Amino acid sequence: MPRLTYLTKFALLSLAVLVTFGLIAGISGPGLGAQLKVAGALVLGWMVLVGIAAHATSRFTHQIAESERLALHDPVTELPNRILFHDRAQQAIAGSDVTGPGVAVLLLDLNRFKEVNDTLGHHNGDLLLAQVGRRLEQALPQSDAVVARLGGDEFAVLLPRLDRESAALAAAYRIAETLRTPFVVAGLKVDVEASFGIALHPDHGEDPEELLQRADVAMYVAKRRHTGAEVYAPQSDEYSPDRLVLVSELREAIDTSGLVLHYQPKVDLRLGRVVAVEALVRWQHPRRGLLPPIEFVSLAEHTGLIGPLTRFVVARAIRDSTTWLEQGVDIRVAVNLSPRNLHDPTLPAHVAGLLADAGRGPECLEFEVTESTVMADAVLACAVMDRLSAMGTGIAIDDFGTGFSSLSHLRQLPVDLIKVDKSFVLNMDRSEDDAVIVRSTIALGHSLGLEVVAEGVETEESLQSLRALECDFAQGFHVCRPLPADEIASWLVSSPWSQAAVAVPAPA
Ligand code: C2E
Ligand code: CA
Ligand code: CA
Repeated sequence: MPRLTYLTKFALLSLAVLVTFGLIAGISGPGLGAQLKVAGALVLGWMVLVGIAAHATSRFTHQIAESERLALHDPVTELPNRILFHDRAQQAIAGSDVTGPGVAVLLLDLNRFKEVNDTLGHHNGDLLLAQVGRRLEQALPQSDAVVARLGGDEFAVLLPRLDRESAALAAAYRIAETLRTPFVVAGLKVDVEASFGIALHPDHGEDPEELLQRADVAMYVAKRRHTGAEVYAPQSDEYSPDRLVLVSELREAIDTSGLVLHYQPKVDLRLGRVVAVEALVRWQHPRRGLLPPIEFVSLAEHTGLIGPLTRFVVARAIRDSTTWLEQGVDIRVAVNLSPRNLHDPTLPAHVAGLLADAGRGPECLEFEVTESTVMADAVLACAVMDRLSAMGTGIAIDDFGTGFSSLSHLRQLPVDLIKVDKSFVLNMDRSEDDAVIVRSTIALGHSLGLEVVAEGVETEESLQSLRALECDFAQGFHVCRPLPADEIASWLVSSPWSQAAVAVPAPA
């Protein structure tokens, strides 16, 4: 039977009251009938009012509960999100301070998720995550445990009232066991493995943030050792001392300008002039020399240092571009973002603050994000990208063609530019397959109203081919290698691609 709303219930009740009064009035004669009619009308009016108020209150309460649920849960798996996890962990820690014993935090990510997302598509990736979420819930060893999705393929499990490493490891192995049965996605069997990092309160951390960070370090060790699960242990861990030293050196480098930016020009093929430079970070390490980003960006990603690193890069890029502007060179600067930057809702406001401090407009900045960066957690990533784009900064999809390229997704993203991945451009003159990819990406970009950059242009031949294909911009060693800020400043004013080198049409 369909559920009756409050309003319907009260209308029916009121009707019943009215009919009863009518019947009594009919039986007992006109005098009493008139009084009863007035009383009946008053009661009826009152009940209708109460009914409407109750209905409105119940809808309002329902809406508040619904928006709270949405704010605290991940829409893909319907599990608690990072905010709710923090809250529950905080409560468990507070509770354990009173009752003892401790609290365990397990962090896990799926070892082959990216492959699934890349080959079967984002929608199927989401279906897999939802299934994984359900299995994790079923595998929980205690009723007050909480499982949450933190973003991308990263989940966290909170086990209150647990302080023994062996018990936490046993819980991790038990959960790993339930993931071992293949999942079925799009009719295909998919094997998923997870790596677990474990941190215990009070031994490894005071608060949820510290516990998650330590669990992240342990997870990294589990991946490197291929052990499946590790408990955070600074002394016994053979990778950790080195790594901890490196992490603290990196933290110091970020704070003390030990990082340097090299810049690589992006040139407009139609106008024949430089329009932008890409900032590429390097670490001037005191003993190991100039380190390329591959040596430390992923370390920064896994230790919570990527936020400060990116903030440093954006600030330095704005500062350098302001210097060039003072020298008469007006170009944009592109900054690369990592997945975790796109999960940081405070990034847009921080960027706006840096621009305001420098007295610069948003059009001097561009952000580059890879397809997989966006797909790691499309909902969160889109929210941050939307805000950056609404501020007026440009957004480019980097390494286009290497990840899962969904047209429908691309159309929903606030993107101005796509960068054809260098792996295709490098070989476009030798491999017909790569040439086809470059050609169709340019056509695809243009048909969506986007501009297209080809990166990895190493020869004059590819430059000419790209020009013939009406590619908008080119970047690569053939135009210019990435150079330190002072060297790029001279290149910007003296190269054949410099803005001054472009012939200014003679006045009519
Ligand atoms: P990317 O964004 O795809 O950057 C382009 C990379 O290709 C750069 O390597 C650049 O030096 C190299 N490259 C440029 N032209 C050519 C060419 O013609 N041929 C070849 N073979 N390579 C070329 P780099 O500087 O080592 O950077 C590697 C990656 O590190 C970047 O790839 C980017 O994903 C990441 N990265 C660099 N700086 C940052 C940063 O500030 N933040 C983050 N999150 N990632 C960064
Ligand atoms: Ca890039
Ligand atoms: Ca790239």
